[in-house]
Amino acid sequence: MVLKTPEEYLESIKRPVNLYLFGEKIQDFWNHPIIKPSINTVKKIYELAQDPNYQEIMTARSHLTGEIINRFTHIHQSTEDLIKKVNMLRLLGQHTACCFQRCVGFDAANALYSVTFEMDKKFGTDYHERFKKYWSEVQAQDLMVGGAMTDPKGDRSKRPIEQPNPDAYLHVVEDSEDGIVVRGAKIHQTGFLNSHRAIIMPTLALRPGEEKYAVSFGVDTNEKGIIMIYGRQSCDTRKLEKNPLDIGNYKYGGQEIFVIFDDVFVPKEHVFMNGEIEFSGELVNRFAGFHRQSYGGCKVGVGDVLIGATALAAEFNGVQNASHVRDKLIEMTHLNETLFSCGIACSSLGFPRQAGNYEMNMLLANVCKQNVTRFPYEIARLAEDIAGGLICTMPSEADLRSNEIGPLLEKYLSTCENLSPEDRYKILRFIENLTMGVASVSYRTESMHGAGSPQAQRIMIYRESKLGEKKQFAKDILDID
Ligand code: SF4
Ligand code: FE
Repeated sequence: MVLKTPEEYLESIKRPVNLYLFGEKIQDFWNHPIIKPSINTVKKIYELAQDPNYQEIMTARSHLTGEIINRFTHIHQSTEDLIKKVNMLRLLGQHTACCFQRCVGFDAANALYSVTFEMDKKFGTDYHERFKKYWSEVQAQDLMVGGAMTDPKGDRSKRPIEQPNPDAYLHVVEDSEDGIVVRGAKIHQTGFLNSHRAIIMPTLALRPGEEKYAVSFGVDTNEKGIIMIYGRQSCDTRKLEKNPLDIGNYKYGGQEIFVIFDDVFVPKEHVFMNGEIEFSGELVNRFAGFHRQSYGGCKVGVGDVLIGATALAAEFNGVQNASHVRDKLIEMTHLNETLFSCGIACSSLGFPRQAGNYEMNMLLANVCKQNVTRFPYEIARLAEDIAGGLICTMPSEADLRSNEIGPLLEKYLSTCENLSPEDRYKILRFIENLTMGVASVSYRTESMHGAGSPQAQRIMIYRESKLGEKKQFAKDILDID
């Protein structure tokens, strides 16, 4: 068994990093009140993997080492593994109600595993063996690995080589026998600071002449030359105040980092693509496909908590039996389970790649994520409808605790007998947090743009839609040549 305890994980990330927040350099980031909840979330992953009740779902047997490993470091060996992944992400969403950050490197590894194999077959390179060695280390140490794809992209009407800023896309600036030096940035990097390592990938399909942008590698997140700038999130400074209940989800949170690579050296054995433009698009698509599958689990788990909180808000108002309230809860559940169905469906129809690992069905993974760009918005709208306007007009926890006005607030926040006004306060702030506060980043905006913006899925849906076959069905029935 190579499973880290939550405490071991916490100790292992206490390392010097080059991190900025609010324009200041941050030391001991693990004690920072804005950052701490995001670490608690990752600790939950390590905690549940230790729990015998969840071992089946949270752990797997490595096909590389034969050891029991955390499922977040597993290379899928069957459709069953793909289904367990979606179930695991739903479970974690239910336990944290936010983005738990560890899926990006997981998805990157599963995409790279097959792409490196196919690159080697075509070009006689040795990327696959390098990657297997790298990933065996990750499994053996139960490391958290981030995954980086999105470049700043500069002027979107121009290709990488046409950019006025030559570093708008991350690229190789030096290439030698020992390794490469890279320069550029990767933005909105989920959990990068909380990760031990990260896998970096290109952001788009590249063309001849753009070889230096076709680069993928593994890197330690505290490597020399890496600068991290902590992303702000709505209402994040509430975490600096002394009123935890005003935060909403005061235990857990996500994390997004703006990462700059200021001439970072990567040794050859950690380079997994260097110039193979033919495979850059494939790597992007496979990674995006895996991450679009992920959303059919993680967002559903968060949705479960939001639906539960909304049902509690209805109870606190005494309207839980009103038919329209029940109908809205049914609609929320219907939408949420539709997302889950997509996650399970694309996993069930998974298939083995030449390398032997299993991949989800690409069309259904894209349909899954396209629905995720819509349904959480409707679920959040219905939650706000049932919860009422208090979620954004309620005074601070400090007022609730005040000797002068606290009793008055308690009096007027009380609703049904035996229900505590403080609990009502918690529920309403929690719904605010998920629909428009810090957690709305993971539940709403990330549902829109994470794993690719909606148009990216529409392109893939078109590509995978087999229109020719569909036209033939119609022609055959109608005897058209
Ligand atoms: Fe994992 Fe979901 Fe966060 Fe992506 S958005 S890292 S799939 S929890
Ligand atoms: Fe995400």
